[in-house]
Amino acid sequence: MQSFSEDEFRELFPLSWLSQYGYCKRRCSLLALEQIWQENEYTAAGRMQHKRVHTGRTEQRGDTIYIFEMPVFSRGLGVNGFCDCVEAHLSPSGAAIPYGKGKYTFYPVEYKHGVVRDEEEYHLQLCAQAICLEERFGVEIPVGAIFFIDAHRRDEVLLSQELREQTWKTAKEISDMVESQKTIPAAYSAKCKKCSLREACQPRIRRSAQSYSEGLWEEAIKETE
Ligand code: SF4
Repeated sequence: MQSFSEDEFRELFPLSWLSQYGYCKRRCSLLALEQIWQENEYTAAGRMQHKRVHTGRTEQRGDTIYIFEMPVFSRGLGVNGFCDCVEAHLSPSGAAIPYGKGKYTFYPVEYKHGVVRDEEEYHLQLCAQAICLEERFGVEIPVGAIFFIDAHRRDEVLLSQELREQTWKTAKEISDMVESQKTIPAAYSAKCKKCSLREACQPRIRRSAQSYSEGLWEEAIKETE
């Protein structure tokens, strides 16, 4: 009889949360724990551009198969979701896939809208996709890429040991956050200006309230001295 570890029954969370958490931990907690989602011009543009990619099609060009919107999951990381595009390159060192004519190595490509940016959260999401593919196909994926739709530019990302450790660490922190059901407090930063959840989050108000409370506390201590 097959036996399952506790981990195999763990609820998986969306792979995109890694990117959200990398951008701002509070933003991820508002999405994950309070189901708050608000659209702004940036998220709307991103959603529309991703819609064009997410067609679930495959294309064959020479020895490469392009698999769009490929569903993936990892029990280890505790995530599931989609890869925007996985390039499967015909290679004897790869793994067999159902619609291929041999063995293939894999090259995940994550699509992003907006200006070209070298953001860690993009790399975390890409690395998590690679880990999902590695688990499923038993192959190594040393590199992937971020494709910037507007600029039509592709930046290759080395899936280093350091990035992998950071990806595992982030996944664990998200899993712990979900288990604790504790929403992470706001910390105002430059990122808040473009954040679609700014209104719901109120990062400045919370900070002011916190400073106010701290001030009152300091006053109270002084009076007792
Ligand atoms: S407004 Fe700022 S602190 Fe609040 S969720 Fe957005 S980025 Fe995070």
